[in-house]
Amino acid sequence: TVILEKIEKNFAETAVVRDVSIAVQAGEFLSLLGPSGSGKTTLLMMIAGFEAPNRGRISVGTRDITFEAPNKRNVGMVFQRYALFPHMTVAQNIAFPLRMRRCSRAQARDRVDAMLAMVRLEGFADRLPQQLSGGQQQRVAVARALVAEPPVLLMDEPLSALDKKLRETMQLEIKRIQKRLGVTVVYVTHDQEEALTMSDRVAVMADGELMQVGAPIDLYHRPANAFVAGFIGKMN
Ligand code: ATP
Repeated sequence: TVILEKIEKNFAETAVVRDVSIAVQAGEFLSLLGPSGSGKTTLLMMIAGFEAPNRGRISVGTRDITFEAPNKRNVGMVFQRYALFPHMTVAQNIAFPLRMRRCSRAQARDRVDAMLAMVRLEGFADRLPQQLSGGQQQRVAVARALVAEPPVLLMDEPLSALDKKLRETMQLEIKRIQKRLGVTVVYVTHDQEEALTMSDRVAVMADGELMQVGAPIDLYHRPANAFVAGFIGKMN
C-alpha cells in the first residue's frame, strides 16, 4: 500500500496540492487524472521523493517515507522527461537500477534477459536507444523501472508521446506486466479514456484538490460533482 495523508505542497505562496489523502492498495492500479496544472506531477514527485510535502505524511506499508531519499524508497519510475541514458545500450540501461544492489554479473544478466523477454525486446540488448522506435524506448523504460522488482511503480504520462495505436498496445503491455508481477501502480494522465480503461480506481484532481476517488464505473455513473461529470464525460 501507498498511503498519502493530508498532503499539502506550496510553491512560494501558491498551494498546488491541497489536503490530499489517498490509500493505494497493494497490487492496485490507480490513476491520477486531471487537467494540466492540477498538481498530478507534483503529487507523484512527492511519492518518488523528489519533492517534500509542506504538510502531511507518505507511507509505504507501515514505513513512513515522507522525507526518505528517492533511492531508498524502492519505487520504480517512468517519467516522460526522464529518458534512457543515450550512451548506454538497452541492456546497460535496464541493468542500471541493479548497480545499486548486491547483484552478481551473472544474476544481473539473467534479470535483464528476463525483462527483455517480458517487454518483448529479445534481440535488442546491444542497441543504443537512438536505434529504437519511440514505443520500443518506452518498453525499455518500463523494463528498467521494473528490473529491481519494486513493489511500487510510478508513471507520469509515459505514453503521451506515442501515436494512438502504439499507445493502446503499450497500455495492454503495462497492464499485463503489472498484473503478472502484482505491482502497485500510481499512473499520471490527463487522458480520461486511458485512465478509465487501465485503472482499478481513478483519483480526479482539479486545482490541487482531490475531487473524487473511485472505480471507473462509479465515476462514470455517480460523479461527485459537476467537474468530475464534465471531465469524465469528455471522453465521448
Ligand atoms: P501537467 O499535466 O501539465 O503536467 P500537472 O497536473 O502534473 O500538470 P503539476 O506539474 O503538478 O501539474 O503542477 C501544478 C502546479 O504547480 C502548476 O501550476 C505548476 O505551474 C506549479 N509548479 C510545479 N512545479 C513547480 C515548481 N518547481 N516551482 C513553482 N511552481 C511549480
